Amino acid sequence: MAKTKNNPLAGFYRAPKMYVSIPTGGKYYDDDVVEWPDTNELPIFPMTAKDEMIMKNPDALLNGEAVAQVITSCVPSVKQPRKMISNDIDTLLIAIQGATYGDEVKVTANCPKCEHENTGEASVEGCLDGMVAVTDDYSFTTSAGLAITVRPFLYESTIKAGLANFKTTRSLQALQEVADELEQLKAFNENFMTIAGLNFDLIVDSVNSISGTSEDGEDFIVTDSANIREFLENCEASVGTAIEKSIADINDLGINKEYNLQCEECEEVYQTTIAFDPVNFSTAS
Ligand SMILES: [Zn+2]
Repeated sequence: MAKTKNNPLAGFYRAPKMYVSIPTGGKYYDDDVVEWPDTNELPIFPMTAKDEMIMKNPDALLNGEAVAQVITSCVPSVKQPRKMISNDIDTLLIAIQGATYGDEVKVTANCPKCEHENTGEASVEGCLDGMVAVTDDYSFTTSAGLAITVRPFLYESTIKAGLANFKTTRSLQALQEVADELEQLKAFNENFMTIAGLNFDLIVDSVNSISGTSEDGEDFIVTDSANIREFLENCEASVGTAIEKSIADINDLGINKEYNLQCEECEEVYQTTIAFDPVNFSTAS
């Protein structure tokens, strides 16, 4: 935001519309990621016309660039959005949506019983009020007595996963046009390996530490990611499954995106999730 001197319009620039806390309370961040205010709440500015345009560029959305830019513009305390935890980014996106378009968010979903499309209105404030904090690291103990602590995904990792997913979907679509069946199978396997490798990377990234007691009675704690990777490549699959479950639990914390709709045709009550994803920005208001 470059500002010139003596612009008579300066008094009319946007001002913060709300102040929000985030699920992690900022505890994972140094000052070069988030400049944490003494009030413990981040000021949220509404989007500018330029921000809105950025949010409508599908390429920028895909690699996370749009979200990163808009967060830096609307939440000036945030210096490096990619280094933040995904739960916090979700919260900031909702707050920006509220600061820009107001409190109401349209929710649309088909009835699971009769397929009728129902629409409801969720509240940004309501969502933010129901936020569940990410407290300390989440940990569990393996049958061999190792204590494994897990941390939530960085926004960076979430983008990486989304991008890989997109690439796979696209190459699987292209595969259908390959005539030779053996070629098709080979390409399919390669794709599968890429995804499996990426999921493994995400698991390694999410493990904060592994601690236990060695055979000669010494307590140890391992935080080195190369050591953690090697362990995960050589331990039983059940350990990986338990880590994945822990990751799923911790990534679910944060704002409550669940919303109940009642069908206007058959009166069935069903649950849906509020889509606060950036794509929704362009259709909001
Ligand atoms: Zn229905």
